[in-house]
Amino acid sequence: MVTTRPALSPETASDTLQELWVFPIAPEVCNLACTHCLYAASPQRKNSYRLTEDDLTDLFTQLAALGATPHLLFTGGEPTLHPALYDFFEQAERRGYTFQLHTNGTRIHAEEAARLARLPHLKKVQVSLEGPTPALHDQVMGAGLYQRTLRAIDELRSRDVPVTIAVTPMESNQEGFTEIEQLAREKGAELVRILLYDLGAATANGLKPATTVPPQRGKDMILMCDKGVAYSEGQYFPCPILVKDPESILGTSVRDAISPAARERVREIKSRKSECAVCLKGST
Ligand code: SF4
Repeated sequence: MVTTRPALSPETASDTLQELWVFPIAPEVCNLACTHCLYAASPQRKNSYRLTEDDLTDLFTQLAALGATPHLLFTGGEPTLHPALYDFFEQAERRGYTFQLHTNGTRIHAEEAARLARLPHLKKVQVSLEGPTPALHDQVMGAGLYQRTLRAIDELRSRDVPVTIAVTPMESNQEGFTEIEQLAREKGAELVRILLYDLGAATANGLKPATTVPPQRGKDMILMCDKGVAYSEGQYFPCPILVKDPESILGTSVRDAISPAARERVREIKSRKSECAVCLKGST
């Protein structure tokens, strides 16, 4: 069940703006080409957008003006491809913002894990794992990647970095869901289920959501667009799902994105977008 809560607004941002998704690079830029990627990201996709230190400083200035300290979610694409990513983390640290990193894990080695372990405001590293075996994982992520992903999880966990394993239950990997739950327990990692959206590579590859894995429901489930906004390529969006949708641009500032006019836009978006129907159904 989806919980309703006070609407985002500039006046209440200190309470209601809980999350800010940040794309350090364009969503379609990645070192992998996963079959279910909603941005159809791949190494072949070219986009020169890069978040700058000045962009991030401006973002923090805006948040301070609103009195808001949302949790920051650095995502992509593959955010570790940004050469200044750890500088961004240091800035978040200095300013006292909590944050997390979403990654495919393939670029997390011992050195990166050690750097991440030295960041007290880093609340989790979310690593995509699409199956408990090489066969199931690699069919989604790419050949030979299962071992690299597990290595990243082990490097992080051995340094007590909190890890969340993210799995997208699909027809193609649902047979491994019980095993992946077990694997997450063994690694001391949380497990989160990601919804499959009919977008990007998932559409091109005709992927279907799992039929045997029950949806992840919680009595306090809150839609991303009801507790935060996403920032990508200089603009704000209701959530990370819609950051490549020109119809979903909410403006060029945090204040724009949580204004009453923008919230009315989000209500309208939610009433007609098929992606929103997936969220509102709350099932994969
Ligand atoms: S896809 Fe729609 S319902 Fe889901 S979080 Fe984004 S705006 Fe909200």
